[in-house]
Amino acid sequence: MEVLLNEDLAALSDLDEQSLFESLSQRFRQDRIYTYIGDILVAINPFKYLPLYEKEVSESYKYHEKTKLPPHIFAVADRAYQSMLGRLATGPRNQCIVISGESGAGKTESTKLLLRQIMELCRANSQLEQQILQVNPLLEAFGNAQTVMNDNSSRFGKYIQLRFHNSSVKGAKINEYLLEKSRVVHQDEGERNFHIFYCMLAGISPDDKDMYGLLDPTQYRYLNGRYGSEDIVRKWGEKYSEVCNAMDMVGFEEQEKVDMMTILAGILSLGNIMFEPTETDALRVTDKSMGWLKATAGQFGVQEEELLRSLTCTLSVTRGEAIRRLHNQQQAEDARDSIAKVAYGRVFGWIVSKVNELLAPNVDFDVELSEIGILDIFGFENFAVNRFEQLCINLANEQLQYFFNHHIFLMEQNEYKEEGIEWESISFKDNKPILDLFLTKPIGILSLLDEQSAFPQASDRDFVDKLNSKFKSSPHYEVVRSHSPLFTVVHYAGKVQYNGLGFLEKNRDTIPASIRSLFINSVTPLLSLLFAATISRTGTLMPRKAKLMQKADDNFNSTRKQSVGAQFKIMVSVSYLQHSLAVLMEKMFVASPHFVRCIKPNGSKLPDQVDNKIVMDQLRYNGLLETIRIRRDGFSWRPSFKEFAQRYNILLIKPDLPLTKESCMSILNTTEIHGWKCGSSRMFFKYWHQEELARLLERLGKAA
Ligand code: ADP
Ligand code: MG
Repeated sequence: MEVLLNEDLAALSDLDEQSLFESLSQRFRQDRIYTYIGDILVAINPFKYLPLYEKEVSESYKYHEKTKLPPHIFAVADRAYQSMLGRLATGPRNQCIVISGESGAGKTESTKLLLRQIMELCRANSQLEQQILQVNPLLEAFGNAQTVMNDNSSRFGKYIQLRFHNSSVKGAKINEYLLEKSRVVHQDEGERNFHIFYCMLAGISPDDKDMYGLLDPTQYRYLNGRYGSEDIVRKWGEKYSEVCNAMDMVGFEEQEKVDMMTILAGILSLGNIMFEPTETDALRVTDKSMGWLKATAGQFGVQEEELLRSLTCTLSVTRGEAIRRLHNQQQAEDARDSIAKVAYGRVFGWIVSKVNELLAPNVDFDVELSEIGILDIFGFENFAVNRFEQLCINLANEQLQYFFNHHIFLMEQNEYKEEGIEWESISFKDNKPILDLFLTKPIGILSLLDEQSAFPQASDRDFVDKLNSKFKSSPHYEVVRSHSPLFTVVHYAGKVQYNGLGFLEKNRDTIPASIRSLFINSVTPLLSLLFAATISRTGTLMPRKAKLMQKADDNFNSTRKQSVGAQFKIMVSVSYLQHSLAVLMEKMFVASPHFVRCIKPNGSKLPDQVDNKIVMDQLRYNGLLETIRIRRDGFSWRPSFKEFAQRYNILLIKPDLPLTKESCMSILNTTEIHGWKCGSSRMFFKYWHQEELARLLERLGKAA
């Protein structure tokens, strides 16, 4: 029974994998989905409504004492907010909340709850608050889709930065990572395209439908000819009006909305254009899809002949001579799909940049602002077929795991050593070697991928052969004997077999200059804008002279000079992802982190069911067992003597105390707090000491 009531597993005295699992699953069966491991929150997805987020609950967690209330996601919000205000502890004012877990584990729901509660905490009843909260339905409509894992799966990662001046929110910024654009043109069995397509088709009025040139949903190849039952369609319809409201609230203009919908309609029409060879070796659009070609040109606001030309041939300039190369059927289909992907990607990037403009009204970000960042990034994925997208997602997760390990294990234990604290080292699964396998230069997986992508003649097979020869003896890599270009990476979360087919093309991610100029000349203002501006690594639109893209931009200008010439590259390759993740990590490494570990109880999205193996696997690769040990035995709060004495000298009622080790000890000796240690430059406290001290200060404040 005792274990049952355990709300903080770091307090468990004897601990093994089994008892950890038992505690969590018994709590889960009583609908106690949240559990602490010290300052880490474990959240198990209930897959059902629980009365945990009502107004009263939200109120009760404001400025609460952690030990007085059951573990909760609202408590994490409170802690981050209080720490940002400097009320809880010393340490960096900027906070980051890292939410991790598999697809469907509940990360995005947790993010929304955190946002909501933080808005409650700063009592920002302003328009800005409403706008910040409205951003989610908008981003979800364009960035989420139904997958086998999750009916509302985020197909992009995001980092939301909330910016505060003192206690009130002043603005927000969203960074998006790696939208899964390939979903626009292809979905596996049991999956769907992005929500917005279905919402749009279900929600718009018959008049608008005519205006956009939309036809029956089952006609569209990019939707797999699939739509849904009446019930589902009704829900999509409702969602559409929600999206429209959100767009109004965020501040999109009417014309922008119309343009956006027209582009989406154009993407759907484009997908239906099919090609066939003629007797003369050239390629033509099938009779049946001539209508679609016309429709697409109309929707994109471009010349039909120009559109056709960019689908059926490539112009390249070699030594000043323009050479027109005719596409074969496969190349034409690829060109079609890449136009669809790039157009959708740009619309999404534009929405995010628009949102960012609106959420940062005249805030000079150099003034004293502090920040709470929330990271909701796609979980680890292992499907029947794993492609380039999965590789990127899993690499991002490796980095996140490394960040977690670094904070929880490495940094902490290194400090014990340096500060001469007696400590028996705790081993953990270090994933650095796996990161190295990807990132080492010049021969890591990424470098080899970039190297091979630079050769126009190289094939995916060549790439995988290269990997095989370089890494065959690595413990984290396995050669797969097959006709297909397969290879296996042993990730921290398990083995994943990747199919290298399409890796080089996806990594190149090029837009032919002809397509670019096609769109720049579009009479649809939004489309023209989307292709005239460059998109930064994080997906935001930037003025063309922005520094980051200077290089690509120069490329662009020279491309223009050569008229329709060489290929224009927008690098959104894996190295670009790597770059944007590296920037994010840099930010996170200097903030105070808070971790929320989401767990999926079963693989069938069902309530009240715990699949032992599925849960156990997650506990294992999350490193939760080791985490409990280090949280129980370790010292998670380590202020310097100066920081500590400055803040707590008031407990001794001696404001001019020297900021030394001795002072720290005298302060602590007046309290009943024990279990702390003293290093050579800083103090070492258990995670709960922070709250005990905060309480003492509070009592003193009340007495005065
Ligand atoms: P992830 O972002 O990790 O892929 P989501 O946050 O989208 O997962 O959650 C998947 C689904 O699980 C949600 O659509 C919702 O139905 C359910 N869910 C997640 N968290 C909760 C919760 N706290 N309460 C009720 N249902 C939840
Ligand atoms: Mg999600």
